[in-house]
Amino acid sequence: MVPTLQLCAETHLLVMVARKVGGGFHYGGSGNTLGAVTAPLFEIEDLHVRTAGPDGAEILRGVDLTIEAGEIHALMGPNGSGKSTLASVLLGSPDYEVTGGRIRFKGDDLADWGPDDRGKAGMFLAFQYPQAIPGVSVINFLRQALSARKGIDLSVLELRLAIMEWMERLEMDASFADRYLNEGFSGGEKKRNEVLQMAILEPELAILDETDSGLDIDALRVVARGVREVRADRPDLGLLVVTHYQRLLDELEPSHVHLLIDGRIVRSGGMELVAQLEAEGYESWRAEAAPVGA
Ligand code: ADP
Ligand code: MG
Repeated sequence: MVPTLQLCAETHLLVMVARKVGGGFHYGGSGNTLGAVTAPLFEIEDLHVRTAGPDGAEILRGVDLTIEAGEIHALMGPNGSGKSTLASVLLGSPDYEVTGGRIRFKGDDLADWGPDDRGKAGMFLAFQYPQAIPGVSVINFLRQALSARKGIDLSVLELRLAIMEWMERLEMDASFADRYLNEGFSGGEKKRNEVLQMAILEPELAILDETDSGLDIDALRVVARGVREVRADRPDLGLLVVTHYQRLLDELEPSHVHLLIDGRIVRSGGMELVAQLEAEGYESWRAEAAPVGA
């Protein structure tokens, strides 16, 4: 059994109900003849997060972020600032507790949505440290994921044909499809595999955490190109790219860059902020973050 894919008809129903009840039609049904007001693709509002459990420590201390369809946002920040925590929370990780604020996907509050609901609705997270799943091949994982995400049941042969072009674009050997998921994958193979998943699952919002870590320059370019090609096919894809390296951002050219320090976004800007961080380092920005407990 693939843990992240324990989807069933009930989950599907839940999502449908959640979307109805959750207020999808609060937006757009205003009777405004100038056109419907649409909610942003993705909104984070004053998000406070602590680690789950009795001694939970506060990691995110009021994060605001809005991503419109088609936008690429970069989230930068030093080690330990909370970037991976944010990525995990956005996909509903049980390791963290949201103690304040809101996350909305296309206007729907995600508070009661589990990771499967979020994936099915069109959110995608590439993990910083992808899990190996013994006994499940790349292609079988994709089959189950595709079935869960889109309700499409392809045979292994059909899927093989469908992914061939993408595997070529990502410079992946055809034999890769039959390897066990993430078992013995190099950093570059893991990341290519994630971009492959993203290409096939066609999310509306993708969160890529540290996709450049452990990659050499060539692999990085392949991944960056892969991401760009996925976006070229689907220009409405919203992307949140978590990284502390400039290289990936030079390739992806985000329209928005955010600096996360000690659980808060202390500055937002464009690519000029990346250059500034590269030149000055993070230290000079720490003063911008209020002390913990403030
Ligand atoms: P980043 O990705 O920016 O390097 P993380 O989100 O991984 O930072 O971690 C932020 C801080 O929260 C770190 O101090 C880390 O040790 C702590 N942290 C994150 N997740 C957990 C957890 N599950 N349990 C305890 N501490 C955690
Ligand atoms: Mg991290």
